[in-house]
Amino acid sequence: SSSNLHGYAPICLGLEDFYVRRLYLRIQDCFGRPIASAPDAWIDVVERYSNDYNKTLKRTTNTSKCLNLGSYNYLGFAAADEYCTPRVIESLKRFSPSTCSTRVDGGTTILHTQLEECVARFVGKPAAIVTGMGYVTNSAILPVLIGKGGLIISDSLNHNSIVNGARGSGATVRVFQHNTPSHLEEVLREQIAEGQPRTRRPWKKIIVVVEGIYSMEGELCKLPEIITVCKKYKAYTYLDEAHSIGAVGKTGRGVCELLGVDTADVDIMMGTFTKSFGSCGGYIAASKEVIEYLKYTCPAHLYATSISPPAAQQILSSIQVILGEDGSSRGAQKLARIRENSNFFRSELQKMGFEVLGDNDSPVMPIMLYNPAKIPAFSRECLKRNVAVVTVAFPATPLLLARARICISASHTREDLIKGLEVISQVGDLVGIKYFPAEPKKQ
Ligand code: PMP
Repeated sequence: SSSNLHGYAPICLGLEDFYVRRLYLRIQDCFGRPIASAPDAWIDVVERYSNDYNKTLKRTTNTSKCLNLGSYNYLGFAAADEYCTPRVIESLKRFSPSTCSTRVDGGTTILHTQLEECVARFVGKPAAIVTGMGYVTNSAILPVLIGKGGLIISDSLNHNSIVNGARGSGATVRVFQHNTPSHLEEVLREQIAEGQPRTRRPWKKIIVVVEGIYSMEGELCKLPEIITVCKKYKAYTYLDEAHSIGAVGKTGRGVCELLGVDTADVDIMMGTFTKSFGSCGGYIAASKEVIEYLKYTCPAHLYATSISPPAAQQILSSIQVILGEDGSSRGAQKLARIRENSNFFRSELQKMGFEVLGDNDSPVMPIMLYNPAKIPAFSRECLKRNVAVVTVAFPATPLLLARARICISASHTREDLIKGLEVISQVGDLVGIKYFPAEPKKQ
């Protein structure tokens, strides 16, 4: 999910890669550790674990309860929910876990059609198409939207699924400096003249691809400025809202709502259901013509088994809760809570002297470790104190920009957050990652 996947990685596949692989062999317990519960605020983490099968570590299934600061469960829908769960169980009984068919061959249940209408309405576009996986939504749909003779201009820190989709499309790919509209304009200006009509340009089509909240940076997209540049050069915009849909905006409608952008100005809105909705799958929302075209041509629609009905039901029900259509105000409360929790946690971490990336309101907050050797120390010391964190390293980030990525949820209580902060503070001192002077505590 970073610039290196756009072209930096091959340069590193020498000595650095060798050392990184050796390092990873030693920290097998920090990645892929199994959990034995739903990814809610507290999780059961398997205690003695290594994913290196050659190691003689005695594996156990004993678990310990840990505060979960790593899952994308932004609104807390990953846990049993009084409105969603009974409906999901009902759908499981009625439709079974799988449709055992592609969308065009009997794999479209009434839940699938309802879901597409519901998603289009929720994100504010005329129509939508859903697929069984967020990753596939980018990697399989971008190549349907653009191909040889087209130009994709991609943010340097876009997710790997976008990188894969862009590469697989056969279009020419150019990268612009992360979240820098002026550089996007420079790249566009190199390719076409301002105001040149689409039909007279050297490119059949130009698509600019950005994310709403960057998954490894926790940063909000400078969407209004990016749209201004795209309009000036008549480029289409493609916005991946995996981490922002449901998580930000007054009614959970993502960065457009938060930043006051008209959804009509974003040509293709993409998102996943694996974060705020506690389910799986992805969507594209766009004009009726684009969605109809995708339904006839997209391989992930034509040849892949459709999204599991209980997963579709979970998305439908969680959107109903967010919109207050369950007859309660729980959705609004969850949205207020995620915002409050995120802003509290971020400001407390900053006061302690950590280098925290990202913007206010974003539930994603990377704490910079820099040195990859600090990954196992940070991860293990937190786990010893019953706090589970996610650490991210090369190739998901550049080699010397390792980080711990905290994801805050509406299901965290204030006590949970205080416990998390205490532990991170202790471990931060131990590992030496408080790079700024701490603010004096108020009495
Ligand atoms: N886009 C972005 C920005 C992501 O961060 C991710 C994964 N976290 C995906 C797409 C892929 O989504 P999924 O995990 O739902 O397949």
